[in-house]
Amino acid sequence: MSRLVVVSNRVAPIEEGKAAAGGLAVGVQDALRKSGGIWFGWNGEVDADPQTRSETKDNITYVTFGLTKRDYDQYYRGFSNATLWPVFHYRIDLARYSREEYEGYRRVNNALAERLKPLLKPDDIIWVHDYHLIPFAEACRMYGIRNRIGFFLHIPFPAPEILTAIPPHNELLKTLCFYDLIGFQTETDRLAFEDYITREVRGLVRADGSLTAYGLNFRTGVYPIGVVPDEIRRQAESYKGRRNVISRTADGELRKTIIAVDRLDYSKGLVERFRAYENLLDRFPEHRRNVQFIQIAPTSRSDVRTYQHIRKQLETEAGHINGRLSELDWTPLRYLNKSHDRRILMGLFRAADIGFVTPLRDGMNLVAKEYVAAQDPEDPGVLVLSRFAGSARELTSALIVNPYDTAGMAEALDRALRMPLQERKERYENMMRAIRSADLAAWRDGFLRDLRASASRPTLISTKRAKASSA
Ligand code: UDP
Repeated sequence: MSRLVVVSNRVAPIEEGKAAAGGLAVGVQDALRKSGGIWFGWNGEVDADPQTRSETKDNITYVTFGLTKRDYDQYYRGFSNATLWPVFHYRIDLARYSREEYEGYRRVNNALAERLKPLLKPDDIIWVHDYHLIPFAEACRMYGIRNRIGFFLHIPFPAPEILTAIPPHNELLKTLCFYDLIGFQTETDRLAFEDYITREVRGLVRADGSLTAYGLNFRTGVYPIGVVPDEIRRQAESYKGRRNVISRTADGELRKTIIAVDRLDYSKGLVERFRAYENLLDRFPEHRRNVQFIQIAPTSRSDVRTYQHIRKQLETEAGHINGRLSELDWTPLRYLNKSHDRRILMGLFRAADIGFVTPLRDGMNLVAKEYVAAQDPEDPGVLVLSRFAGSARELTSALIVNPYDTAGMAEALDRALRMPLQERKERYENMMRAIRSADLAAWRDGFLRDLRASASRPTLISTKRAKASSA
């Protein structure tokens, strides 16, 4: 079997004895271990003189490097997280564009391809992850790399009217078409991409899934990322701290618990969710004192201004709800602004009566699948899920809500709190069938099977031009 080379913005740290930090790390590490290979990417550090470090463990060579402050500001903090992230999540209002940052983004992609080239063997296949690396395949071709290269987009792909807000959208999309295979989370994302290709650049989409645009031939596919349900269930069952987390009413009854876990990001609909919970307590006062809402939201990208703003806004909302509604023996909302180990989270999911997952827009949202997989099959909780999460395409037996509809979300919470056991079981079983049939292995194996089957490309651009553009 040919070796696998994974390229992602961040390489998961290699820490012994720790539960891996989510889908990408687990899925990728498994695949790399099987075929042997390299995981190549940024080590998360900003460094005046970034050197490449290499460490081999369990058949995987981790090749990592730091970024200079300028590269970090332009490539990571700038074009990736202040332009692409908001626009791809339909938040043009929060996006900014700077030509220098875009040039920095292109420069870093070129530099990464140059750094990767000497490590490659002719039959390696290269799997590139996410929006930081859209132009990476084009950069590889400029350096004469002929291997098969596939790309998986973990976040949504926006409708063309949104995408075209990015000034160099045409150039950016052209670089994306240098991949041999482009994978999306949902059919909606793939259709949005095809819409751009056919309407904006008069490209051709064939019935067999092959496309031609900008004079390049490539394929697309839909590969919804999944979880490892048996591992989640084991982690959930082994968690022993539940009793300290679920509080009791004055009569000694366990309070009904609503749980939500998200990176603190404006795409997650946190403020809207807090307001829906407040609306529930106002309109259905019988739930007061009998329910608690635990929101875990670790800070992310804290040096990007919009993230500082959302953090302040949430603190204000949480303070408002607790200040207005708390009683001496009841705090309605517990907002924890720090990260928790996966094993604890899976235990909390199992203990909670409702998983409240209401992003305004999300590529997949693994937390939704994790919540379901962690449930006790004999007494499962209810998932309340936004229609704008990628996972809503598969988890159709959740209570599907519109996160912009505060009253509608409150009514869904009320319904979930009252749902009889039989209905909860039926919904849980339907969702588990979907989760099992599209688990993490299916995502990884499906993508790699299609990538291995795709035709590799001749290089199109001379090495001389490559050198000039990465200078
Ligand atoms: N997660 C975690 N600890 C935390 C918060 C989240 O391990 O304190 C994990 C969570 O269990 C999930 C992942 O981080 O596996 C988040 O993935 P998701 O697709 O839901 O959202 P993303 O952060 O990728 O936008």
